[in-house]
Amino acid sequence: MRRVAILGSTGSIGQQTLDVIRRLPQQLQVVALAANSDWETLHKQAEAFGVERLGLLAPSASVSARYQLYWGVEGLCELVRAAEIDVVVVALAGMVALQPTLAAIEAGKAIALATKEVLVGAGEYVMQRAQACAVPILPIDSEHSGVFQILQGNRQKAVERVILTASGGPFRLRPLETFDTITVEEALQHPNWRMGPKITIDSATMMNKGLEVIEAQWLFGLPLERIEVLIHPQSIVHALVEFQDGSVLAQMSQPDMRLPIQYALLYPKRLDTGLPRLRLEQIRSLEFESPDLNRYPCLRLAYEAARIGGTMPTVLNAANEVAVHLFLQGEIAFTEIPIIVERTMEAHQPTKATLQAVLDADAWAREYVQLWRQK
Ligand code: MG
Repeated sequence: MRRVAILGSTGSIGQQTLDVIRRLPQQLQVVALAANSDWETLHKQAEAFGVERLGLLAPSASVSARYQLYWGVEGLCELVRAAEIDVVVVALAGMVALQPTLAAIEAGKAIALATKEVLVGAGEYVMQRAQACAVPILPIDSEHSGVFQILQGNRQKAVERVILTASGGPFRLRPLETFDTITVEEALQHPNWRMGPKITIDSATMMNKGLEVIEAQWLFGLPLERIEVLIHPQSIVHALVEFQDGSVLAQMSQPDMRLPIQYALLYPKRLDTGLPRLRLEQIRSLEFESPDLNRYPCLRLAYEAARIGGTMPTVLNAANEVAVHLFLQGEIAFTEIPIIVERTMEAHQPTKATLQAVLDADAWAREYVQLWRQK
């Protein structure tokens, strides 16, 4: 029996994690739940799964006293240290997940990681601590789960190239000259995946794939030039790995996050997921193309930040988080997202990515975007 804590249980990944756990009562048990601010959903989940230990990032007045409650980032750090937890699913949106993830690593808990921002913003430090504490970081991100699955039984040293696929989002075929009229509703219509608002916007700009390239660098210890991106509109092939002998292995499945979630939680065991099976004869054709960086400037910026290294990916991520939030609030246009990210990167002097430098760079970038907008 693996005892699971979910940070971000009311979001899309959190809810799908609970779907997985519900189906596998012999293997998995949920023992702690935490959310950003949605007490109502958190409370319902606690009732349904008989969970006593609950965390909330934002204070809420309507909580019930019969639970063991943990507040704020500090509270979540304390929650993940609880003795009965074996694995922590990290699925909060954004860098706010960093400190609780580090607390879980220091407490020796396995990490099932959905929040890629943690590795984009502080990958070097997080991986160092995970190694020092002998804690596995199991990817939930579907592409990284794909690479991780392909690497089983293969020597990581024999990897020539990793290819992450991307759907291209809802604007893959939209005329470029109409990009400045993109609405929030249009950007939230992802063709293949059911996801939360932050990552859905990141998929539309393809910043998501840029963040995933940086995530893959840290997870698999690969240099940037060995990680490539291909647009694959069907979202059936999630990742490919080319080995030194020229052999290419692909990981394929229907696009459903419950598969990578279950793989991370049961690793290395495989059990039936109950999900629809892949029938290639029904899908018939799988297409691939190189991404056009004029259409997806955020992908170019992510590669640039990764090349510069140090605290630059932290700044890329923080500026993007603020810009996406502003777009979702209707305060900026879709096309302003890459402009904000680029200006913030231009104004940043990158340093070595120690934990303090990362926290400082993250805070600086958020403030810079706000101040620059007020001018
Ligand atoms: Mg992904």
